[in-house]
Amino acid sequence: MRRWRAAHPDEHKAARDGWDRAHPESSNARRKRYAQRHLEVRRLIDHTRRARHARAEGHYTAAEWRDLVVKYEGRCAYWNGEGPVHEGPLQMDHRIPLPRGGSNSIANILPACGRCNRRKHLLTEEEFRARLAAERAADRPGTDGQDVHGTPWYRFPPDW
Ligand SMILES: [Zn+2]
Repeated sequence: MRRWRAAHPDEHKAARDGWDRAHPESSNARRKRYAQRHLEVRRLIDHTRRARHARAEGHYTAAEWRDLVVKYEGRCAYWNGEGPVHEGPLQMDHRIPLPRGGSNSIANILPACGRCNRRKHLLTEEEFRARLAAERAADRPGTDGQDVHGTPWYRFPPDW
């Protein structure tokens, strides 16, 4: 049979195609095998990429991320409790961005809404919080030097 196939490749192909048409489950099976091989290659590439990422920058698990989201009650870590809750699905924000030397361990991760995550971009958590505070202060003309309830600033201790 093998010798006949080698000697008559076209006939073999025609016979196989005809057989496949008559038996679609067989070509499905072949397609499945092909997809399976591709999936294995895909997995290997993913694994290599993940391993490189983990080696370079630390690692956190899906469970650790879930616990963090629960700790923040499913809310953006940059929402200060005033005004409308930051909308949208939570994303993993790096408190210190990776390009600025931050790690990829859970201690360096915060849940953030898409808008905050995009706006923060390469800022550190500290820098971004300072920017948000400055924006809030600018949004409240007339409260400069006073707290939100109108208490004059001089009632605060001098080192406040
Ligand atoms: Zn937010």
